[in-house]
Amino acid sequence: MDELTHPITGQTFPSPVPPGTGWPDDPATPSTPVAETPEEVASLAAVADLGVLDAEVSVCRACPRLVKWREDVAHTKRASFANEPYWGRPIAGWGEAEPRILIVGLAPAANGGNRTGRIFTGDRSGDWLFASLHRVGLAAQETSLHAGDGQRLIGARMAATVRCAPPDNKPTLLERDTCAPWIRREVQLVLPTLDVVVCLGSYGWDAALRTLADAGIAIPKPKPKFGHGAEVDLGEVTLLGSYHPSQQNTFTGRLTEPMLDAVFSRALELAGDS
Ligand code: SF4
Repeated sequence: MDELTHPITGQTFPSPVPPGTGWPDDPATPSTPVAETPEEVASLAAVADLGVLDAEVSVCRACPRLVKWREDVAHTKRASFANEPYWGRPIAGWGEAEPRILIVGLAPAANGGNRTGRIFTGDRSGDWLFASLHRVGLAAQETSLHAGDGQRLIGARMAATVRCAPPDNKPTLLERDTCAPWIRREVQLVLPTLDVVVCLGSYGWDAALRTLADAGIAIPKPKPKFGHGAEVDLGEVTLLGSYHPSQQNTFTGRLTEPMLDAVFSRALELAGDS
C-alpha cells in the first residue's frame, strides 16, 4: 500500500490510516474494539467513558455503505489532495472533555474531516466555522487545517450526528439510527458541565432534540422549530439554532459572518462567559 506524507508531522501513512500508528490525536490503538453491527455500536457505547468512546467511534465499521464510501474516497482522493494521506475513518467528537458549549453538525465531509481526521477541518464550511469561533474566543486559532496543527477549542466541543462521511452528504435513516448511540453517550457524558447546544442546520437541530430527549431532558410539544437564532430553554441546557456554514448558505449570503458570530456570542453569554 502506498504511503504518503502527513502535511504537519512529516510521518508517512497509508490511506485509510490504521489505528494507533501515530496520526496526531488518533484516539485508538490497534486493540481498540471494532463495532461491526448496530448492536455492537449500542453495547460498546453504553459503557464507554469519553476517551474510550472517542477511540471506539474512530474504528467503527457498522455501516457497510459508509465504510466503503469513506475508504474509497481515501484511496482515490480529490486531485488537489492527491499527495496527502487520508484518515478514511469515522470522526470522533473533538474539543474539551468538560465543555460548556457543544456544537452539533451533520457528518464529516469526504475530502474534509475524512481526509484530515478532525471534525469540520479541511473544507470551506469548517473554515467559516473556525474563523467565527476564533473571533468570539471559542477557538485558539483562526484556522483548522489538519489534526496536529495546534488548534484547540476553548470551553467547547464539537460532534457530528453521523460519524462517517456519507455520499452526497446524505446518510440513510438506518445509518443515522445506527450511529445514534455514539452521540447519545457523548451527550450523556458531557451533560454535567453543558450549558448550551449549538445546532448547525435543521439536521443537527433534530438530532440534538432526539439525543437530549434520550438523555432524559423534557422536550416541549410540539417540537421546537429550527431557525437561525432559534433559542429554546430546556432547563438544564439551552438549544441554539444556526444555519449550517455550508457554501450553499455562505455563498448566497443566507448566512453571513456577523450572523454566525452572533449565535456563538449568544452561546457564550448563556454559558455565563460574557
Ligand atoms: Fe459507525 Fe457511525 Fe460510521 Fe456507521 S456512521 S460506521 S455507526 S461511526
